[in-house]
Amino acid sequence: MQVDIERIRQLCDLERNQRIFVDDMMIEQNALDKLAYIMKTYYSRFHHIVMICDENTYEAAGKKAMEQLPDMGLIILDPTGLHADEHGVQAAEKQLRHFDEIDFLIACGSGTIHDITRYHAYQKKIDFLSIPTAASVDGYVSTMAAMTWKGMKKTFTAVSPVFVLADTTVFSHAPSRLTASGVGDLMGKYTALCDWRIASAITGEYISEPIVNWEYEILEQLVSNLDGLQNHDIKAYENLIYGLLLSGLAMQIITYSRPASGCEHHCSHLWEEAAINEPIDYYHGEKVGVGMILCAEVYKKALERLKTKAYTVQDHVEVETELICQCFQNPVLQEEILKENTPNILQDVNGQMLKEKEAEIIQILEELPTSQEMTQWMKKVNGATNLSEIDLDENLKSLTLRVSPYVRKRITFMRLIKFYSFYEEIIA
Ligand SMILES: [Zn+2]
Repeated sequence: MQVDIERIRQLCDLERNQRIFVDDMMIEQNALDKLAYIMKTYYSRFHHIVMICDENTYEAAGKKAMEQLPDMGLIILDPTGLHADEHGVQAAEKQLRHFDEIDFLIACGSGTIHDITRYHAYQKKIDFLSIPTAASVDGYVSTMAAMTWKGMKKTFTAVSPVFVLADTTVFSHAPSRLTASGVGDLMGKYTALCDWRIASAITGEYISEPIVNWEYEILEQLVSNLDGLQNHDIKAYENLIYGLLLSGLAMQIITYSRPASGCEHHCSHLWEEAAINEPIDYYHGEKVGVGMILCAEVYKKALERLKTKAYTVQDHVEVETELICQCFQNPVLQEEILKENTPNILQDVNGQMLKEKEAEIIQILEELPTSQEMTQWMKKVNGATNLSEIDLDENLKSLTLRVSPYVRKRITFMRLIKFYSFYEEIIA
């Protein structure tokens, strides 16, 4: 499919210095056959190229890439227990040292390989090209590397790929769980956008209308393509990776994750920190998808209460420090979370502000699909739809929704509903 990079550039607000770092993207069948041509056309100044992949992604795409560029260096990591963490970074670093000179990297793999590569590209101050092997996350073009560093979730400043070469033949054959994860990550924009719009309505936080509209367009396409994914239709896969890449570009343009991450990602982050649960081993988008469904259910309950107008609002909502300390018993993590919540992100918000914007909040919540719709959609790709499907106790629902807004310094509706008198009822 044709990617109109110029149209994407036009979404940048130049007065805000918004820009994208990707020169171009190619999404098509056998796109890998054009790797040598792309390197010659765009990046002929680089002569010391190294590709990073793992044993699985080497088989899926790396081999073919090597045929295109037989002189480039190759690093194949062991996929067993490979994560975007200090061990993964070191494993790559050990092999990178074998090369005297490197002026360009290629990431060939899914999210982990990309985060490891973008970390090293940033350290070496060089560019890299992305070959995604699964439509599993929206982070391929991220400028941040999402890492677990010594057990803590951390985001490192890193670099975006300068080019994305997405070979449909490769990622449409990825394990279906990875594709379902991509659907979950992308569909999670429904709740993320809902949060952004409500927060902006209440606090005046910056929001980009063109980006928001563009994301809704992507979501509409995603939903209409779910049957295609089920039937292994190539076009549906291309659309999915296109949506994921565009979501990543939306983050590049805005320069932080607001367009792509809200309450649903906070649930996922909370579970990853294993503060209220045993550690679980599921893909990012699987957790995001479940988080989205839980949040949408509560948001719709709030909508019903708001429409009755039979409620009151608290003047102020304090940080629930005691609850945080109870949940985050690991002292390092606890300190981190308390720091994240100092000062209280809601200190300048009062209940009256929510009252005044009631009509606007209702309208935004009306536009959110229901949790039942989301569940049906996720089921079409055999995605996870509830806590037990990602090995979490169903009883964790209420605690997740109560605590997860504290994992990041960001106003979501999940945080704001603490103002309403119906909060305890709908969160239970
Ligand atoms: Zn995500």
